[in-house]
This record gives sequence, C-alpha cells and structure tokens, in this order.
Amino acid sequence: MKKIGFIGLGNMGKGMSINLSKQNLEIIGYDINDNAYKNLKNTKILIANNLNHLISESEIIITMLPDGIAVKKVWSEMMPFSKTGQYFIDCSTIDVKTSKSVQIIAKEKGLLTLDAPVSGGVIGADQGTLTFMVGGASKTYNEMKFLFEIMGKNSILCGEEGSGQSAKICNNMLLASTMIAVGESFNLGKNLGLDLNKLFDVISTSTGSCWAVNSYCPIKGIGPNSPADKDYEGGFATALMYKDLGLAVDAAAETKSKINYGIQTYEKYKEVTENNKGNLDFSNIINE
Ligand code: NAD
Repeated sequence: MKKIGFIGLGNMGKGMSINLSKQNLEIIGYDINDNAYKNLKNTKILIANNLNHLISESEIIITMLPDGIAVKKVWSEMMPFSKTGQYFIDCSTIDVKTSKSVQIIAKEKGLLTLDAPVSGGVIGADQGTLTFMVGGASKTYNEMKFLFEIMGKNSILCGEEGSGQSAKICNNMLLASTMIAVGESFNLGKNLGLDLNKLFDVISTSTGSCWAVNSYCPIKGIGPNSPADKDYEGGFATALMYKDLGLAVDAAAETKSKINYGIQTYEKYKEVTENNKGNLDFSNIINE
C-alpha cells in the first residue's frame, strides 16, 4: 500500500486527504494547528508527531499550505530528512518564483517534484472534483496522476516546474474580474426592473455565460446554491483571492505584462480585505 504524507489539513487539505484515505492508500497527516485534526476523527488518517516522523513514513509528500512563506519553510525543514526518489507535490497556491526555487533545491537532493495548485474550492476538495494545474516533468506527472484522479476530475500538465502556479494565477485573475462584472450586470438588470431569475436564465444560456454566473451566481436565491445563499459565509475567502491577485500583479510586473483590469481588480479586493471583510466569500465583492 502506498504511503502518503499530507501537510496542511485546513479547509482544502481536509477533504483532499480524506478522499485519499478512502482509497487503498495509507495517509499520515500533519498540521501546526491541532484543531485541524478534529475534522479527521472517524477517518483512517494517521497523525504524525512532527515533520521528521511524517517524512520517514511517506513515499509521497503533499503540501497544502496557505502561502509561499509556509511552503518554503516546510519544504526546507523537510529537506534534511528526505530520501532520494521521494515525491514532493505542492498543491498550495504560491508565487511562481518560490515554487521554482523550492523545487530546484529538492531536485538537487534527488527528489521528484511537482507544483499542482487547484481550482474548485472547498466543495471541490470535499467532493473530489478539483482541477489540478501541474508543473514539472511529464514522467513525474504520469506517475502521480492517479492521485489527481482521486482528488479531482481534471489534471493538466501545463509545462515545466512553476507552470501550474502560472496557470493558476491567470485563471484566478480572470475569475476575480469576472465576478465584479457579473455583479455590475445583475445590478444594472435590477435597476432596469428585470426579474433576476429571468436574467439568470438568459445570461446562463447566452454569450455572457461564465462559471461565476452558471455555477456560483453571487446573488441570493438566484441560480444554483452558492455562498450568496449563506450570506457569503464559507467558500473561497476574499482575502485568499486578494493574495492570488497579488501574485498575478507581481508576476505581471516581472514579465512586463499589461494587466489593466487585473490591477483595478486587485485594488478592489485589497480595499474589501482591508475593510475587515476578507473572511467573506469573494463573491461578496459585488456588494462592495
Ligand atoms: P487553510 O488556512 O484553511 O489551511 C492551511 C493549513 O495549513 C492550516 O490548517 C494551517 O494550520 C496549516 N499550516 C500553516 N503553516 C503550516 C506549517 N508550517 N506546517 C504545517 N501546517 C501548516 O487554507 P486553505 O483554504 O486550505 O488553502 C490552502 C491553499 O489552497 C492556499 O494556498 C489557497 O490559496 C489554496 N486554495 C484554496 C481554495 C479555497 O477555496 N479555500 C481554493 C483553491 C486553492
């Protein structure tokens, strides 16, 4: 039975590790916050005493951590205990530079690495329907694809190390901007006296259709169930979207890419996050 170490058992890591544990795999988990273990009661997931314990028990190590600082810290703490031929997969969303640099160091130690950030949110993590955007060697990707098939429904090898992170920030910058545009469109419809259910029926089947409307409509009572129906609780936090937009803005500056809407979008999410609403789902942006 393959042994997998899973580090970072928060909103996303919980569902992902539980889905792995339901297969013929042995999962050992680790998190600096003991509260994370409460969600793993009644599962087959074992808990590691520390990183050294986890790495000595695992052939494959997956990290699902908040940001690049945490990934750099955890990966560098693991390096002295790592063994040639172990697989290290980072599923967190982090900056391309850090992703490349931690993988270069790991490869010098004989480790096989991938960056594999995800799309699909907490629901996707719980239901095993995530999309993985992967960067790294195709041989390593093919060997690890079975894990992406358990935790998700799509995985795309985007290119060399860091490419998964590059694809992720492009996707999220587009989603963040789209959500603002969806809010403006529905607001205009409301002010014109339209029944918003009718407007949803039109947009979701017309050229304006997009994931933010069809699958995640940000207006209470309209379209499929979404965080808007729970007063924007849960879902994908505004602060995390702001973090991802920051990664996109930095990457655009480094590559001299023009992202006018991206910068305006970044400024808006920054304002809302700094206005103490960073914990609400990002679709709340339509109300701000
Ligand atoms: P989270 O904060 O809920 O979970 C992160 C976990 O990592 C926490 O339990 C935390 O205690 C743990 N952690 C932090 N530092 C650690 C360390 N040094 N050692 C061990 N554990 C440590 O965050 P999340 O929502 O699960 O997101 C994780 C990553 O996935 C982020 O990079 C985020 O951008 C990305 N992401 C999140 C979503 C979403 O909808 N929440 C969607 C797509 C991608």
